[in-house]
This record gives sequence, structure tokens and C-alpha cells, in this order.
Amino acid sequence: MPPVDSRPQPRSSILGIAAYVGGRSKAEPGQRVIKLSSNESGIGPSPKAMAALKSVAGELHRYPDGGVADLRQAIAARFDIPADRIVCGAGSDELIHLLTISYAGPGDEVLYSEHGFLVYPISARTAGATPVKAPEKDLRLDVDALLAAVTPATKIVYIANPNNPTGTYVPPEDVARLHAGLPPHVLLVLDAAYAEFVDVDDYEAGLRAVEAAENVVMLRTFSKLYGLAALRLGWAYCPEGVADVLNRVRGPFNISTAAQAAGVAALGDDEFLEEARRHNSQWRAWLTGRLSQLGLKVTPSVTNFLLVEFPQEAGKTAAEADEFLTARGILLRRVTAYGLPHHLRISIGTGEECEIAAAAVADFLRGDHG
Ligand SMILES: *Cc1c(COP(=O)(O)O)cnc(C)c1O
Repeated sequence: MPPVDSRPQPRSSILGIAAYVGGRSKAEPGQRVIKLSSNESGIGPSPKAMAALKSVAGELHRYPDGGVADLRQAIAARFDIPADRIVCGAGSDELIHLLTISYAGPGDEVLYSEHGFLVYPISARTAGATPVKAPEKDLRLDVDALLAAVTPATKIVYIANPNNPTGTYVPPEDVARLHAGLPPHVLLVLDAAYAEFVDVDDYEAGLRAVEAAENVVMLRTFSKLYGLAALRLGWAYCPEGVADVLNRVRGPFNISTAAQAAGVAALGDDEFLEEARRHNSQWRAWLTGRLSQLGLKVTPSVTNFLLVEFPQEAGKTAAEADEFLTARGILLRRVTAYGLPHHLRISIGTGEECEIAAAAVADFLRGDHG
């Protein structure tokens, strides 16, 4: 008989999880780090959010407002939606986990697309459910493939629109067609983490889709355009029934006082948000142009990052480029775990960071490894 392991054992699906690995942030000791690996704000946080954060320092002994009233009111006013259908999370990551464990379990399937965000399958396994991937076409979400992958066991469909790490989006007609093809008991989650960066006309984050149905949720985050990734703050716009469920399962004080105060301030900092968008559009266009000139294939992006394909030729591969750049303190994101071994993802940093990174990529491709 094999020895019995008497230690506490997690549910079997938990050990099937490949833990999420975030973008790297460290280089050699003493080296300047240019971190372009986590899609963080290229211009830092809102000054108003920083001031609000400092203003609550004397209140740290108090519990936060568990109802997150001021922040939900501020979001409601800004987006013209009812506050009681907004639920905040410690990052939208927390909301993804809460939705998955609430609506899917053992025997159920959680559907997402081929190069979709890795937190979806992680949350599915956490719930004991089975993550199911539908293929994409040209690094773009494929509605027909998603619908073809729906089975009687499907409980949730997650789409990131725009998607990370591809940077591509689908227009509202596609989202509507996906929704129309789903049975009404399947929850459709529209993860719009990068919505604020999109500057094309045929895009909608999902507010109207939520309003038109009982089974659609939209997720937003303060981590990207608003520059508050450190504080962990996201929100869901939900049908009443889903808001009720999330409010039952979330921690009673899941949003810190600091995050609530900074979130309200950042939402109202129009000047900062405008500048953040302008900066991103400018440098996204510049970096796309520069990397394309170098002969690399850049997927057209509506987000604050670019997906860049490297040649599969010794000396020029994505893995070698990553190693070369890392040695110079320039941290990009490998996306092998997203099924993209020949690509790297690069976030839009400061203008100077974009220039340094592009120059280093040029050196790499030239074989100038000095
Ligand atoms: C960054 C990101 C999020 C947001 O994560 P937070 O937990 O809010 O920081 C959600 N979805 C996608 C696709 C992302 O890339």
C-alpha cells in the first residue's frame, strides 16, 4: 500500500492550476529598470488620487466603508448608471474569481477564447470547473468558434474586449451576436479593462449590453488608465441578481479606504485622464511605427500595449530578444503561457522608455549584442 498522505489536501482541481506569473519588475542590482511588462500607466498615477491617498492616512485604524458608497456613487454619476448595480472588487481579478466560484463548479465549463486572459482558467479551476478554450482567428476573438464551443455544461463565457495580450477588439455587433447565441442561463462577462484607451468609433465597453439583458456583466478596472494598480480596485456593472450574488460572497471590507478615496479622486481628475489617453495614443502610434519599420509584425492595438511577433530564426527569436532586453534592464512580457511563444508584449511606458526600448530592439535585430 502506498503511504497515506495525512496532510490537509486541497480539492483535486486546485493542484491543476498553473499559478499566475505577473510581469517581471526586477533587473540586475543597481541597474535602471524599464518595466514594460504589466500594462501599467505610462504617466503614473493621478496627482489628485495621490493627494486623496495621503488625506486618509490618519484613518488607517478604521475599517473601510463596506458598502463603498462614495465610490459607487461617483462611478454611477460618471457613467450614468444605477449605483446599486455596481459592485467593487480588489481589482477586477477578485470580481472574476467571485463570479466564477458563484456561477460555476465541478462538472461545469467556463468558456473563453484562445489567447484570453489567464485569470479566467485559473478561476475556473479554483471553482472546480473545467476551463474551455475556443480558437481565435488572426489573434481576434471568433464569435462563431465561441458559440460552437458552448455545451450544456457551459455556465460562464468570459471575453476581454479589448483583449490582453493581443490588443485587438470586437465591435458591438459581434458582442450582440455572441450574446444572442447563448442560452439565457449562461453568464456573459465582458472584461473591459482597457476600454478607456480605445479611440475607434465601432467599440462599446458593454454598458448597453448589461442594460439589455439579465445575463451580462461588464468589468472595469482602475489599474490601467487610472494608474492605480497598486491599490487593487475594479468594479462590475451587473444585473440586479448578479449584484446581489456578488454582495453575498465578497469580503465585507474588500475595498480599502485608500483605494476608495483614490478611486473617487481619480475618477474626477479629467485633466489627468485626458493626458493619459493622449500620451497613450501618441506613443502607441510611435512605437507601432518604429517596431514595424524594424521589420517586426505588430498587431494593431487599441490598448496601452503592443503584441509584437519576432522571427523564428536563430538569433532573432522572441525568447532571445527577451533575454537581450532583460540584460539591459528592459522588461517586456513573454506570452508563451497565452499560446504565443513567438511574441512579446510591450506596454506603452513614458516616451523615453518607449524610445530606449525601441532602440534596444533595433540593436538586437542588428545583432549588435555589445
Ligand atoms: C489588467 C487586466 C485586468 C485588471 O486587473 P486588476 O485586477 O483590476 O488589476 C482585468 N482583465 C484583463 C484582461 C487585464 O489585462
